Amino acid sequence: MKSSVDILILGAGISGLTAAHYLQQRGADLLVVEEAARPGGVIQTRTKGAYRYEAGPNAIMMNDSVWVLINELGLQDELQTAPDLSQNRYLYFKGKLRLLKPGPGLLTSGLLPPSALLAFLREPFVKASNKEDESIADFFLRRLNRPVLDNLINPMVAGIYAGDPAMLSLRSTFKKLYAMEQEHGSLIKAALRKKKGPVPKRELASFTGGLHTLIDKMSKNLGQCLQLNARVIKIDKQQEHYHVQVNTDGASHTIRCKKIISTLPAAVAAKVLPAIGPAVASQLNDLYYGPMLLLYLAYNKQHLGFSPDGFGFLIPQKEQMPFLGAIWNSALFPGRAPHQELFSTVFVGGANRPEVVTYGEQEIAAIEQQYRQVMTIGSKPVFIDSHLQPRAIPQFPVGYHRLMEALDEFERQNPGIYISGNWRSGVAIGDCIDYNKRLVVERL
Ligand SMILES: Cc1cc2nc3c(=O)[nH]c(=O)nc-3n(C[C@H](O)[C@H](O)[C@H](O)COP(=O)(O)OP(=O)(O)OC[C@H]3O[C@@H](n4cnc5c(N)ncnc54)[C@H](O)[C@@H]3O)c2cc1C
Repeated sequence: MKSSVDILILGAGISGLTAAHYLQQRGADLLVVEEAARPGGVIQTRTKGAYRYEAGPNAIMMNDSVWVLINELGLQDELQTAPDLSQNRYLYFKGKLRLLKPGPGLLTSGLLPPSALLAFLREPFVKASNKEDESIADFFLRRLNRPVLDNLINPMVAGIYAGDPAMLSLRSTFKKLYAMEQEHGSLIKAALRKKKGPVPKRELASFTGGLHTLIDKMSKNLGQCLQLNARVIKIDKQQEHYHVQVNTDGASHTIRCKKIISTLPAAVAAKVLPAIGPAVASQLNDLYYGPMLLLYLAYNKQHLGFSPDGFGFLIPQKEQMPFLGAIWNSALFPGRAPHQELFSTVFVGGANRPEVVTYGEQEIAAIEQQYRQVMTIGSKPVFIDSHLQPRAIPQFPVGYHRLMEALDEFERQNPGIYISGNWRSGVAIGDCIDYNKRLVVERL
């Protein structure tokens, strides 16, 4: 392993690989060190027999930076965009799957009581908050009402963060809604004032070989600049240089570098940073990541009582079901399971169900049965597998922006060190790509 390099990147998930890609484009002297035996972080595609499925994220919500990256990598031909029907989203509500209709159709879909209509009519007259932050729950209770929070927002938060709206920061999760209230005083006023024009399509995509195609291509391009099985232990500073202790196969190495981009998970950053940033490191330790159990189920389509014509469904917490929702993979990205089968990923756990880490065969069997009931499936699965992510998605608590400000200050005081990762950029893959591209292009 190199003992000296200009720029050292810590972690080879999508954040670290994106930073490396843009540094490599400009011919930088760089090295990426990754603890695991394979790159990709939480992005992992599995293949078992005729089934291909994801142990982490399932799809990328495309943005400009992702389109550009895919073109730069020459992966256009392998890109698999989700069909139009994937725009259909369902909610499991009062014992039934119901199609979510966009716009005003929502109010007549049976998901919301008449009080919700009144709340929407009143919303433009609700005063904007002057608090610097509040929870997602407080925001929706203040601007709309409880049924809107419980029936719509709660499952949406489960779908993105597997989190609890009462704990999560509005300002750091739903940044656009926070800005809408701050700039226009109301969500409805903001929506009405928005420039009219065609609504951009929310394009979802993956690759025919699964999301790992992206990781494989990016890591292959890095060649010797990517060092796997290399665990970062500690960062020190000596005059103008950083010294990073890295352990590989029981041996300890010190890498001297001018710049560091850390994309380590928050709890790991908390362990490696104390020598140069004790205050910031101690705050990172407290960031909670909810666990997630992914359950993969395939059923013969001829035994389905419901036609899965969409992305999947989410479940409001008050329905008291043992899982958060499911994606219908075979409708979303056909060709990854036998065509006569419905292949689904069921999401279990999240911030409100930490006990999921202890689940065994019995609990999994009970969830599978319940899934069959929801989907009115008349036969047992022909395939079943599961994967546990004990620390899946970081939960940004109320006031989280202050930690981000502390990190800005830390970076100013320690020139050459950049703290990144999904807990800095936002959790969506598109956000990770966008943040790390900008980091390299605009700041390095
Ligand atoms: C179950 C699940 C479903 C998701 N679904 C979606 C989705 O459908 N769409 C979407 O856009 N996003 C989704 N996300 C979020 C998205 O996948 C992640 O936010 C993103 O992939 C995180 O990338 P990252 O590089 O920032 O972090 P990570 O992927 O966590 O990468 C960090 C890397 O650091 C390495 N590392 C840790 N400690 C050390 C050390 N001491 N030394 C060296 N290396 C170390 C790790 O091994 C890892 O490779 C999902 C996430 C999960 C968990």
